[in-house]
Amino acid sequence: MLRVMKELSGIPASPGLVTGPALLYIDEGLPEIARYTIPGSRLEAEWTRLLEAFEAAGAEIRTLKERAGGNLSAEQAGILDAHLIMLEDPEFRGEIRARLEKTLENIERVVYEVTHDLIQKMMTLQDASFRERAVDIADVSRRLLSILLSIKRISLAELEEDVILVARDLLPSDLLSMNRDRVKGIVMDMGSRTSHTAILARAFEIPAVLGLSTASREILTGDILMLNGSLGSVGINPSDINLERYRQDAGYYRTKIEGLLPARDLPAETLDGFRVTLKANIEMPEEADQALHYGAGGIGLYRSEFLFLSPGAAAKEEGQYLAYSRVLKTMGERPVTIRTLDLGGDKILPEFHLAEEKNPLLGWRALRFCLSTPELFRTQLRAILRASMEGNVRIMFPMISGIGELEAALACLEEAKAECREKQQPFRERIEVGAMIEIPSAALTADILARRSAFFSIGTNDLLQYTLAVDRGNEKVNYLANPFHPAMLRLLRQVIDGAHAAGIKAAMCGELAGDTQAAALLLGLGLDEFSMNARSIPFVKQVIRALRMEDCRELALEALQCSRPEEAATLTGAWMARHFTED
Ligand code: PEP
Ligand code: MG
Repeated sequence: MLRVMKELSGIPASPGLVTGPALLYIDEGLPEIARYTIPGSRLEAEWTRLLEAFEAAGAEIRTLKERAGGNLSAEQAGILDAHLIMLEDPEFRGEIRARLEKTLENIERVVYEVTHDLIQKMMTLQDASFRERAVDIADVSRRLLSILLSIKRISLAELEEDVILVARDLLPSDLLSMNRDRVKGIVMDMGSRTSHTAILARAFEIPAVLGLSTASREILTGDILMLNGSLGSVGINPSDINLERYRQDAGYYRTKIEGLLPARDLPAETLDGFRVTLKANIEMPEEADQALHYGAGGIGLYRSEFLFLSPGAAAKEEGQYLAYSRVLKTMGERPVTIRTLDLGGDKILPEFHLAEEKNPLLGWRALRFCLSTPELFRTQLRAILRASMEGNVRIMFPMISGIGELEAALACLEEAKAECREKQQPFRERIEVGAMIEIPSAALTADILARRSAFFSIGTNDLLQYTLAVDRGNEKVNYLANPFHPAMLRLLRQVIDGAHAAGIKAAMCGELAGDTQAAALLLGLGLDEFSMNARSIPFVKQVIRALRMEDCRELALEALQCSRPEEAATLTGAWMARHFTED
């Protein structure tokens, strides 16, 4: 029997309306693996348990392959084959047997220790292929331990029915590995509009409501949900009348975006002739087609790290080269800004132990991580350099906190160029290299950074997080994350003015750039380029084409005088209502 309709309200994270059955996804990961000694007489019984777990793991992988059929890429199929080979490997089994005999500990602990040691060993080796092997070992180890500990896991990759996924938290890697054809909506207790899960949901055009706090406790698998990703509401077990209203809203949303598409080739130009560029942010190479569909003038932010987080990750130089080339070819002469790896924070690779940090957002992230793994960094830079022959590439470094880091990154780029020259691999000599401005120290030293940057791109998601000390993934403090805060507006002005004084352009690739309510203010502050989720481009363009730059400048001056974020937001909202009407 269905329960009475209840409505939850959260953060509208990815637009669109959808209805369907809920699937409650709880992945608590593996518990702490207990350690205890077994009597010598139990040794063979423990060993038999392990052999059975090997059998079951092999069967799971073979079923996975069969079910996926032709949908697996060659790379993904290769990974599963590698796992099967590892399960058959007599040396691997031999190591576990030897340790079991030596320590007489429970088999789960023995498997954990052996695989942990192997992973550590692989990680210290320079060659990237060993690091890939470390990922495989980690995966096989997790599978074996889940079987030994009888932990049932829902595999998001194996979903066979359409569902609305409900979870406490989903990592970006969960979104990359799930069966996207089956996940029609996402509902999460945690997260905010600028969390990477939200960014990916928008990229995949999956409606999402995040930051609901209690959704995973209030919703049961099988409940019918009515999700409105534009308003941030989730209805649980709606009545027929509510469902009908929902269907009408869904139709209206589709018509609205379709109505704007004919303007795709018109410039983003104000009524008084000021032109800016609207570009798309992408996470996966295939999104480049979508960017063109919505009229992007280029890619302003290619979050290259998502290539590493996907199953069958293209961590090798060749895989990266192919992905970058694909985007560049699709975009033709339109510029494509590839941001170098921004791993860490909420984008973790188990084999790098990034998850073990106490404060990952303030830790070994992005450029810091790359500068301390120079081999990995130069591999990426070489892949970008080689792909540069296919189009108009620009390189951008994330999380710069000062000129020293920018210079160190530029030095790595020079080394990568020298390596390409040595291998006689051609690349474009003139590639613009810019800095992301997303840490307050970078914003405050914009004049200094501008001396070594061909452009700036402001990452408002992180800039807001670090300026106001508000974790972008934590729904409890999301109410503080107001980009109209006077501190943010002052920093934005300083960065844009700093760029212009040095004769370079100021772009923005944080979520604020795609917010129609902020467009006039950003224009007035002098922003040259707006890069956003592709679907937002037609909406932002419609706004820009209806405004006068002169008025926008006045608005910016007034907003800068406000003492409180709410004041500036209200001022801007009221201004927009006066200066912009949709039809
Ligand atoms: C930002 O911080 O605003 C940004 C664009 O980078 P990301 O969202 O990938 O951290
Ligand atoms: Mg960022």
